[in-house]
Amino acid sequence: MKTVLITGANKGIGFESARQLLQKGFHVFLGSRNLSNGLKAAEQLKAEGLTHVEAVQIDVTNLDSVNAARKEIGSKVRTLDVLINNAGISGIDIDSEGHMVPQTAIDTDISVYQKVYDTNVYGPARVTKAFIDLLKNSLEPRIVNLSSSQGSLTLHSDPNYIYYQVKGVVYLSSKAALNMYTVNLAYELRDTAFKVNAVSPGFTATDFTGKNGGSVEVAAKRIIKYALIGQDGPTGKLFCEETNPDGTGEIPW
Ligand code: NAP
Repeated sequence: MKTVLITGANKGIGFESARQLLQKGFHVFLGSRNLSNGLKAAEQLKAEGLTHVEAVQIDVTNLDSVNAARKEIGSKVRTLDVLINNAGISGIDIDSEGHMVPQTAIDTDISVYQKVYDTNVYGPARVTKAFIDLLKNSLEPRIVNLSSSQGSLTLHSDPNYIYYQVKGVVYLSSKAALNMYTVNLAYELRDTAFKVNAVSPGFTATDFTGKNGGSVEVAAKRIIKYALIGQDGPTGKLFCEETNPDGTGEIPW
């Protein structure tokens, strides 16, 4: 039975990805920074008859927590086949009148960058470093980094891009940095069986978006596709089917 760790899987796209991979026969380590939320999520899946799931406490901003999760999972399995670096935050604040505070390049406080990068950039780096040994034991290791078409420098410089006017320097630059992390990681693993890709779920109705957007079912399907790709599949690429529906879904960095 193949194994997967999904960070931030107690809700949203991570939770639905857990459900879909369970349906595909995976054993799922359901990562949650709050263990009780993770346990509740795992119970919900078990109640649906999807029993090969266990909650694991993992806060991607906390190295002790990441290392403890590695120790816990390593005590149960020798091999991790798939890592989905899903946990992410926007860092967007809401003002006293309930409006989103724009993340402008001129005014945004540096502390907002630090918080968002700690989760969206250093988080995947911490988790990947901790779990790379278990992943190397897999015959077909896969790493999927949850990115966004909004992290594409090329698209965000193109006035015809659908979200051209939806700027936000902190979140968008965090995903751009994650994209470059993905390129470097894929390069370092180029002569191995690893497939490492950055994938955007598209605009999706979760807590992250105030429940606006498309379905989590479609979003998770887009993500798990890259957890399941064969040895002839791509590596070191950025995909967003919402932005490029040509069948490949590949978009420029
Ligand atoms: P969500 O419903 O808000 O879920 C985010 C998950 O990340 C939650 O489980 C959250 O845990 C977890 N998380 C946050 N900080 C964490 C930390 N330090 N350690 C561990 N877990 C942490 O959002 P979502 O829409 O499913 O987003 C999932 C990913 O998709 C994110 O990387 C996001 O950037 C990306 N994405 C989403 C959209 C969209 O339209 N929804 C579009 C493009 C990309 P708590 O429950 O404890 O807060």
